[in-house]
Amino acid sequence: MHIIEKIVPLHESHPVRAWHGVLLLILLVFAFSLNAWAKNTKGLVRIHVLDVGQGDAIFITMPGDHQVLIDGGPPGSAVPHVSALMPSWDRTLDLVVASHPHSDHIGGLIDVLEQYEVTHILKGFESYDSATAREWERLVQAEGAVVTEGVAGVRYDFGASISLSVVFPINSRSGVPSKDANEDSLVFLFQYEHVRMLFTGDAEQGTESALVLAEEDIRADILKAGHHGSITSTTPTFLATVRPQAVLISVGQGNRYGHPHPVTIDRLAGAGIPYYRTDQRGNVTVTSDGRSFSITTER
Ligand SMILES: [Zn+2]
Repeated sequence: MHIIEKIVPLHESHPVRAWHGVLLLILLVFAFSLNAWAKNTKGLVRIHVLDVGQGDAIFITMPGDHQVLIDGGPPGSAVPHVSALMPSWDRTLDLVVASHPHSDHIGGLIDVLEQYEVTHILKGFESYDSATAREWERLVQAEGAVVTEGVAGVRYDFGASISLSVVFPINSRSGVPSKDANEDSLVFLFQYEHVRMLFTGDAEQGTESALVLAEEDIRADILKAGHHGSITSTTPTFLATVRPQAVLISVGQGNRYGHPHPVTIDRLAGAGIPYYRTDQRGNVTVTSDGRSFSITTER
């Protein structure tokens, strides 16, 4: 099997010339105090599964002032959350990920691209067509970001042992017509030292069994349930492979799809896995120091 290996470092250091010695010393003292401050207050990664109604939007903050946004929920839903969680002076997102081009995932990314500078964009190679998908594509082209097609082997390194690695699709979708945008969702692992969280977009049982069969390393401490807790996702085999200690479900109150399905909820309860639903708990936040994690909810 051919694996594309592409590492995108997001924490490049810049060389400093020797004649900058005095300035360097001052900067070092300043950096040391900043670093001590950072260790006390900012050595944590926070993964916020945002309460955006029926859709997905996950905002990650990490040491080094890096921010990642995974999907943007329905139109207009992500920006108020992102602006509340970002420092007011910071208008740059390091990475925006679009799991797949349905409007409950990319709708809210459109105004994110309009209002923030985005350095990197990770997306699938889609042939899905809709007015929202066309507008999203237009803005992606206009953003000036480094755009990368999500395929297994693509990995972003944020420094401090923090990374995001794509595990699905296993091969490039370039030139392959999309039969089912949900099943073409990007699946990826976010890792901070020993703590791993698996993101599945709206992937369903076909994608889940492809990952299990391919023997991809998808063990994770925390799982973002596929497709808003639909009955067609979070299958018993997939759960047994991922073996999460907690499952987060992004879902809108009283949605017309009946998400999450009671069978999915029973599966989790039966396996003794705690789950957190945004429709019941509001924003759900995972906080980790890289060794362990805790989950807090808005309500
Ligand atoms: Zn969805």
